[in-house]
Amino acid sequence: MEERAPETKDFFLNIPLYKKYSKEYVGDVENFDEKLDMYCPGCKQNSIFKRIDDTPNKIAARAIGFPGGGFYGSRSEEGTRVFLTNFECTRDEDHKAIFIFRADETFISKIGEYPSKIDREYLELRKYEKYLG
Ligand SMILES: [Zn+2]
Repeated sequence: MEERAPETKDFFLNIPLYKKYSKEYVGDVENFDEKLDMYCPGCKQNSIFKRIDDTPNKIAARAIGFPGGGFYGSRSEEGTRVFLTNFECTRDEDHKAIFIFRADETFISKIGEYPSKIDREYLELRKYEKYLG
């Protein structure tokens, strides 16, 4: 029952670190360019985060007209690679969020995140502490 297929957004907000998912998600995760609605420790409230780094699709689009493109060469390599996705709080550009993924021929897993899910939930809990007495 737990094992519903994750949506792309879940790879950032919900999946646990190090759990392996089918590599079929790699492209969607790398190219994810939607907003993330999550708790921002900097704002101390929920905020919207937007992707700030270039996705492979954006880079590829720019590379049209430049034979070889440079980028897909390294992408097609066999083996393991690690990629970062960077987000920024739309309330304050100094508030960053970073999610790090590891992909190989078979699996993708999240291997790092800031702020961590635990941080986000812990701070959310504290926010409600005063109401709980
Ligand atoms: Zn913020």
